[in-house]
Amino acid sequence: MKLSVWTYEGPPHVGAMRVATAMTGLHYVLHAPQGDTYADLLFTMIERRNHRPPVTYTTFQARDLGSDTANLFKTACQSAYDRFQPQAMIVGASCTAELIQDDPGGMAELMGLPCPVIPLELPSYQRKENYGADETFFQICRALARPVEKTAHVTANLIGPTALGFRHRDDITEVTALLEEMGISVNVTAPYGASPTDITRLGAAHLNILMYPETGEAACRWMERELGLPFTKTVPIGVGATRDFVAEVAKLTGVEPKLEESRLRLPWYSSSVDSTYLTGKRVFIFGDGTHVATAARIARDEMGFEVVGLGCYNREMARPIRALAKEYDVEALISDDYLDVEQRIEELAPEMILGTQMERHIGKRLGIPCAVISAPVHVQDFPARYSPQMGIEGANVIFDTWVHPLVMGLEEHLLHMFREDFEFHDDAGASHHGHKAKARQAESIEEPVAANDPAVPAETAEIIWLADAERELKKIPFFVRGKARRNTELFAAERGVQQIGIDTLYEAKAHYAR
Ligand code: SF4
Repeated sequence: MKLSVWTYEGPPHVGAMRVATAMTGLHYVLHAPQGDTYADLLFTMIERRNHRPPVTYTTFQARDLGSDTANLFKTACQSAYDRFQPQAMIVGASCTAELIQDDPGGMAELMGLPCPVIPLELPSYQRKENYGADETFFQICRALARPVEKTAHVTANLIGPTALGFRHRDDITEVTALLEEMGISVNVTAPYGASPTDITRLGAAHLNILMYPETGEAACRWMERELGLPFTKTVPIGVGATRDFVAEVAKLTGVEPKLEESRLRLPWYSSSVDSTYLTGKRVFIFGDGTHVATAARIARDEMGFEVVGLGCYNREMARPIRALAKEYDVEALISDDYLDVEQRIEELAPEMILGTQMERHIGKRLGIPCAVISAPVHVQDFPARYSPQMGIEGANVIFDTWVHPLVMGLEEHLLHMFREDFEFHDDAGASHHGHKAKARQAESIEEPVAANDPAVPAETAEIIWLADAERELKKIPFFVRGKARRNTELFAAERGVQQIGIDTLYEAKAHYAR
């Protein structure tokens, strides 16, 4: 048992639903208890799809457990086929159905339905949503894709975009445009928008573009082995990555590398004078492995931020994320426990978080600006407007999104200079967010303050802040104050200093500035 407050990923059958819902002409029969239909809302409300997911649930109830749940499954399968006449079906169990061991795959096979039926074995108690999507798409490819004649001109498959994917809809458009500039057309995009018949044509392409390793890598590896399709390893999120991606595609296909950069604004925007104040902003990055890895590169090399910590929740990506953290000289956090992430963020006291909707909650609680870079996401991250993350326009979108939560340069400067202002003060929030400014709290620190904040490491818990030092600390702008407090306390603890006065504060400052 594990106590969970939030979960970054759903159970694996939600991953299977993401594949089924992304596709056309495919139906999913899911052996599941009454109530599991809640998952429909992910698609009809969060992604705002205009039709129900192609999923038939057996929705067994407590009283069914005493009788024949297996027959319930068979009836559901037959009526799903009769009603929807799909080109192919996938069948499987949700967490509860896994326990009653009815074997949906075996039963469906014996029914002799007139379309391919693909059984899914998704271990709900060991694996999660992304695995569910990856495995489902792999099984669909394995069952349906066969070697076929290659297209006469160079074509590529786009692999990995699913329903409920963070910006998948617009990433497809962007990557399609990148390829078209090089004279490469798209053979099949899958699972997003593909039918089972389209899956049978995958082998006609000259290469696979693996857009999202989390949801497409198993299928790409299988196609490489069985259909001789090489696949790309670079995910084109960010300027550098997009250029590398174009070079990689050119190398794999033998076509000329070409990238139309006239609409690319990120490099100039981030080197223009207004962005100078972004340099060295300390950021913490968390999300799925792919989006974290690409965000780290953009943050350091394209925005001039300092990456002070990074990690991912999907352990399938633990190895590359650990290697990446080494390269950035930070410690990797591989955890799906929201509280671990919150604790790490508190320890590092970054000036900005790039994360998921969970990190937005953490940021809100700690007063740290946050931009969303990865699923899981709320409804506003399925926007009506064009908002890719990949390619040229993706880089432009990312620049705007990441800068927006920060206090703007002029206001930051005002905060440094006029700390007593009634309007611009630490608690007021960034003016361009339209917060109603809170009145400045009267200065109340007269007594010495013990460092008994739960975020303070145990070795510094005995340290006392004298009132003048505490007042001096308050002069440091709020977004770097957490770091300054922590550094000073560590500095004092290492020297056995019990009380922090102004001298200790400045000695610590000089020490860390060296
Ligand atoms: S079967 Fe799984 S997803 Fe459905 S209600 Fe039970 S635990 Fe939740």
